[in-house]
Amino acid sequence: MIEAAVRPRTGTMSAYRLSGWGRPVDLVDVAVPVPRGPEVLVEVKAVGLCHSDLFVMSCDEGVLPYDLPLTLGHEVAGRVVALGDGASSSLLGRDGVVHGVWSCGECHNCRRGQDNYCIALAGRVGCGLGRDGGLAEYVLLPDARHFVTATGVPPTMLAPLADAGLTAYHAIQQHRDALVGECAALVIGVGGLGHLAVQILRATTSARVVASDPRPEACALAERLGAHHAATSVDEAMRLAAAAGLPGADVVLDFVGSDETMRVGAAALVPGGRLVVVGGARGSMAVGKGLDLPLGWQVSAPFWGSRQDLVAVVELAEQGLLEPVIEVVSFGEVPDAYARLHDGGVTGRLVVVP
Ligand SMILES: [Zn+2]
Ligand SMILES: [Zn+2]
Repeated sequence: MIEAAVRPRTGTMSAYRLSGWGRPVDLVDVAVPVPRGPEVLVEVKAVGLCHSDLFVMSCDEGVLPYDLPLTLGHEVAGRVVALGDGASSSLLGRDGVVHGVWSCGECHNCRRGQDNYCIALAGRVGCGLGRDGGLAEYVLLPDARHFVTATGVPPTMLAPLADAGLTAYHAIQQHRDALVGECAALVIGVGGLGHLAVQILRATTSARVVASDPRPEACALAERLGAHHAATSVDEAMRLAAAAGLPGADVVLDFVGSDETMRVGAAALVPGGRLVVVGGARGSMAVGKGLDLPLGWQVSAPFWGSRQDLVAVVELAEQGLLEPVIEVVSFGEVPDAYARLHDGGVTGRLVVVP
């Protein structure tokens, strides 16, 4: 009975594929993949749209080491419907979310749990980013370890956790030692990642949470999700924090990553504070001593998150402590949804249901 319930459709399926650099995705028919060896086939139930997709589409030839055509979609929730003969059978029929970093599992970094920094990736990260992703009816995972099971969380809520939630969590996790006792964290940019960072900070740290976003509705969202102070500029947000007795930010999570946000973020740090550049706006700043930066400051640029981080993120969601703000769009609306994401008219995460 269960086998009938999970048997994948054979033949062809619809997928949004990038078939040339510098252009939007096309809706095309491709073969439903057949899992072999350790591979796992997942029926896609929900897939989040991300600014990284727009970046990939906008790239000129030669920027990314990806082969085209490529199915996009790296925030994928779904159900395991078929397994290769070398894959763990306990996953069949299970619901969950895809860990999109398709690491080797064996290198120096994978062996110590830092699989998001897998040395063997060589630029082809994984799901939808170098390998065919989840903007399709099915996605083929190279190994069962790239699937994290979840219980009681709807797929539309799970999908954004695969990147937006995981990336925010990993950025916080790396600096957890600085987020204990009386401390403050500044979140710059309350979009797809930032609104989840506010929740993760509140659920897992003692930090006073200060948030900044130029959009008043994003500030209101940050306050609703538990931020102690929120304002439409970093300067104003830090003034509110100072009035409440906070000397500055111990950790600044910059979910924009522009020249300007990195500059004001660094200026908001207490001595010894940490600037964490998460956003992909490709800003830059001079790093060195004697540059009018706080004494002992640190800067880092974390990437996505490990499988273990994703397990922790899913647990937060299962406990009701992490709820992405989402807008569900249909499979046919994907081109329009990308256009809206490009134009900045989205609060929270756009999630596609195939
Ligand atoms: Zn992304
Ligand atoms: Zn590796």
